[in-house]
Amino acid sequence: MKIAISGAGVAGPALAYWLHRTGHEPTLIERAPRFRTGGYVIDFWGVGYRVAQRMGLEADIRNAGYAVQSLRSVGPDGQTRSSLSVDGFRRAADGKLTSLTRGDLAASVYSTIEDDVETIFDDTITAIDQHPDTVRVSFERTETRDFDLVVGADGLHSAVRRLAFAAGPDAEHYLGCFVAASVVEGYRPRDELVYVTYSRPGRSIARFALRDDRTLFLFVFRSSHDADPGELDARKSLLWREFCDEGWECKRILAAVDETDDLYFDVVSQVRLDRWSQGRVALVGDAACCVSLLAGEGTGLAMTAAYVLAGELLRAGGDHCRAFAAYEKLMRPLVESKQASAGKLIPVFAPRTELGIRLGQWVMRAMNFAPLGDWLVARTLRDDIELPDYPM
Ligand SMILES: Cc1cc2nc3c(=O)[nH]c(=O)nc-3n(C[C@H](O)[C@H](O)[C@H](O)COP(=O)(O)OP(=O)(O)OC[C@H]3O[C@@H](n4cnc5c(N)ncnc54)[C@H](O)[C@@H]3O)c2cc1C
Repeated sequence: MKIAISGAGVAGPALAYWLHRTGHEPTLIERAPRFRTGGYVIDFWGVGYRVAQRMGLEADIRNAGYAVQSLRSVGPDGQTRSSLSVDGFRRAADGKLTSLTRGDLAASVYSTIEDDVETIFDDTITAIDQHPDTVRVSFERTETRDFDLVVGADGLHSAVRRLAFAAGPDAEHYLGCFVAASVVEGYRPRDELVYVTYSRPGRSIARFALRDDRTLFLFVFRSSHDADPGELDARKSLLWREFCDEGWECKRILAAVDETDDLYFDVVSQVRLDRWSQGRVALVGDAACCVSLLAGEGTGLAMTAAYVLAGELLRAGGDHCRAFAAYEKLMRPLVESKQASAGKLIPVFAPRTELGIRLGQWVMRAMNFAPLGDWLVARTLRDDIELPDYPM
């Protein structure tokens, strides 16, 4: 089948890999003018890691990754208030855990297909017209084309979801926070392999030292409304308003971010839809069911969904109705449990009060005690899904 995939992030290239491997002809359509690299750092483990292993990517991902040693919470004076070794997480994940930039993970997945699969950059789908045997797809730049299926892998604010699903924009559920991330060069101090966080009521900043003298900053702050100021300068101004009077390295970090155009900025939201397919159109990854950064497993779920969708198409002999239903039946319980637990983690990322910050630091210290820590971590990292062995 000819299958259009909107979005060359994590889910899109992973799906293209499995579809190409099972004899289909996928075409990726990516809005960005070139493959997106860099970005924020993600923790990668669990069922998605197992899918990456099946794609032969483990060595690549390990090489690009960082073996984070500990998480550290600091006070306004920079003194350590609490810290947590990552050993318990590594034990719970059976060693199959790494941290790497989202762009490096996506690039590693994309490298498996870039010579075999057509990618149309700098374009977007503008209309999806379903017929009994085909889907007519219109683009902003490319000529209209017919496909057998269309898959939206175009992230949280999916265009395919908006065009093909009645509940398109209403499917996004704002969780009350914004997130921003930026990578700068030459920042000091550096704390190698330590994820340093600083929290004030309603907001937190984290910094993590990357290779080549780069540093990643992650900002999370509560906001009662989800209006993104949009323009780069307006977003930077909003960060200044939120963080400039908060002590620690905040002012220095804001000044460093001012020097770069690299700023990821978005709402923290989840996507909840009654169904992930409509006729010949399906959704994968964040487009279908974004769990948000709070769940911390979005890339793993995206890779798993891509694997399962392609596997079910194979199992159903190309009957897309059966395949889409089976894909959703297998993935939905896992996704919904991750979404439910993410909602409970807002106070960890942006504690509302000083007391909440202290409580978080106390929990962090307590988690160093193996029985309690291991139990909590194992609960958090557990993936309740039996990954099928498709013959592909
Ligand atoms: C700050 C932060 C921290 C996170 N931390 C973690 C973590 O620790 N672990 C983890 O596993 N996950 C984490 N996540 C979540 C993870 O990044 C996502 O769940 C994952 O990237 C989803 O993959 P995706 O391919 O569905 O979407 P994306 O990676 O968002 O890719 C979507 C692609 O579609 C493209 N696109 C968008 N619109 C269009 C359009 N109209 N037409 C064509 N292309 C389009 C985009 O340019 C992009 O390339 C985090 C997220 C954030 C924001």
